[in-house]
Parts: sequence; C-alpha cells; structure tokens
Amino acid sequence: MKKPGWKILFVSEQSFSRVRQTTFLKGLLILCILFSMAGLAGMARLVWFSASFGLAKFGVYEARRENEGLLKKTAFLNKFISKESEKIDNLVAFENKVRLQYGMNRISDDVRMAGIGGKPDREEMMISSLLDPVLKQAETVKQRTHSLLRKAELQDSTLSQMSNIVNKTHRQWLQRPSIWPTQGRITSRFGYRFHPIAKHNMFHSGLDIANKSWTPIFAPADGIVKFVGVKDHFGNLIELSHPENNIETLFGHLQQALVNKGQIVKRGELIGYMGSSGRSTGPHLHYEVKIDRKSVDPLGFILPTDVVVD
Ligand SMILES: [Zn+2]
Repeated sequence: MKKPGWKILFVSEQSFSRVRQTTFLKGLLILCILFSMAGLAGMARLVWFSASFGLAKFGVYEARRENEGLLKKTAFLNKFISKESEKIDNLVAFENKVRLQYGMNRISDDVRMAGIGGKPDREEMMISSLLDPVLKQAETVKQRTHSLLRKAELQDSTLSQMSNIVNKTHRQWLQRPSIWPTQGRITSRFGYRFHPIAKHNMFHSGLDIANKSWTPIFAPADGIVKFVGVKDHFGNLIELSHPENNIETLFGHLQQALVNKGQIVKRGELIGYMGSSGRSTGPHLHYEVKIDRKSVDPLGFILPTDVVVD
C-alpha cells in the first residue's frame, strides 16, 4: 500500500478564490522543526554567555575597586610602621649614647635583631610569590607589624634596664664623699705617723684638717646620720652612712653637732662645727672614710674643685 503523502492547503478568505495546495515531504518537515529547535538552543546559549560575561565583568570591577582600597590601606599602614620604626631607631641611638657615657656595654645588633625576623626563608618566599599582590602586601604589613612590636618590647626592656643602672650609678655618685668636708690646713694624713700625744709611731686612720673652732663642717656626700654623740678619743662625733657604696664617714673632735641620728643629709649640707673635743691638741677635724668598715685614705675620694658631680 502506498504511504499517504503530506499536503499543505492554502485557502483564501474570499469564497471565489481557488484553493492552492502543495505537497510536503514528512522528512523535510521534521528536519525543519529540528533546525529551528537547534537555532533556539543556540540563541539561549548566547544569551546565557552574554549574561555570565556581564556579571563576571562587574565582579572584576568590584574586586578591583576593593583591591585598590586595600592597597591604599596597606600603604598607609606601611608608612605608619616606618615612622614608628624610625622613632625606635632614635631611641636606640639615644640609649647607645647613654650606655657609652655610663660605661655600660652596648646591646649588639644581633641581640636586637633576634626574634625580629630578618629575611623570609625560601619556602615563605615561594608561598608569597603565589599570592596575589594585595595578599602579598597584607602579609608584608603583618610581618612588619610583628617586627615593630618585637622591637618596641625589646626597647622598652633595655631602656628600663638602662634606667635602673643609671639611677643606681647616680645614687652612687651622690653618695661618694667627693668634696672637702671643711676648710683648713692638713696637719696629719692617712697612714702611719708619729703621734704627738702617744709619742710613738701609730696608724692614723683619717685626715686631720686644722682651723679655728666653729669652722663649719659639711657633709661630703648624700647619706644618713648613723651616730651622733661622744665616742672614745674622738670626742663629739658624727658618723654618716652612704649605703649605696657601703661607705661610712666620721667627723671627730667637733665643737657642736647640728644633726640627729636617722636624719638624711645632702652633699654640702652643714652638719656641725670644728672643735677640739676628745683627745686633741688643738681645734681640728678628724675626717675618716670607711669602705665595708675598713678605713681608707679620704684623699682618694676628693675630686678637684672644678669637677662637678651631681
Ligand atoms: Zn686624726
């Protein structure tokens, strides 16, 4: 049996017009439908790609704007870190100067750099090279901030250590008997001498300075009054303690003492008057300096008058 053919009829709205017909192959019709479907799919894909491209472009623009903002922030932070780092460097220079003045050892650069960082290792550099510029910058800021904090901590600790040493040295200077305790003529030095009363060679544990009675006697250093009163052949005696140096100073044969036990005295402060009390042949001051309770030559401490220590 013959397969029925497919026909398309064209009918006009006008009744007198004739009907036109054309024969269509079924295969051709299916082919046409398939082609138009493929065309629609292509169009849809094109629209989809265009939309995706537009979105991606917008995303890149947004990311770029964000990156620019981040780069600006990291640049600001880098500038801030550089400024603070410079301040610390100035402190280091100041510290080195003071250390030199006070005879302290300088903190070596190796110690200062320990734990601060230095060059990144190979692995770190490889990882860093894989990062994008913004992350790389952020990583640099992080490392520099860490170094800055470490530097600041170290500086704080070395400065406070130095300040303690400077304070101690300063107190030691103030408590060194470095000025003459009175004015007059040296009549007997420290060491062995012929004793005018005992009439034989004796060890003289101090320095005798003679002048008129009531010549003022001054504290040769900052200290605390340890003893005031009459003691043995010293007559009226003042003993001062200078604990920072384990030093004691004694002032014998006084006419009068002007200080009390436990009183704090400053270098140059009037503490009494010269006299001839105790075993003495005339008005003079017996001035003695002891380190760790052992008498030493007081002249070893007195500085030339043009040297100022304060
Ligand atoms: Zn004496």
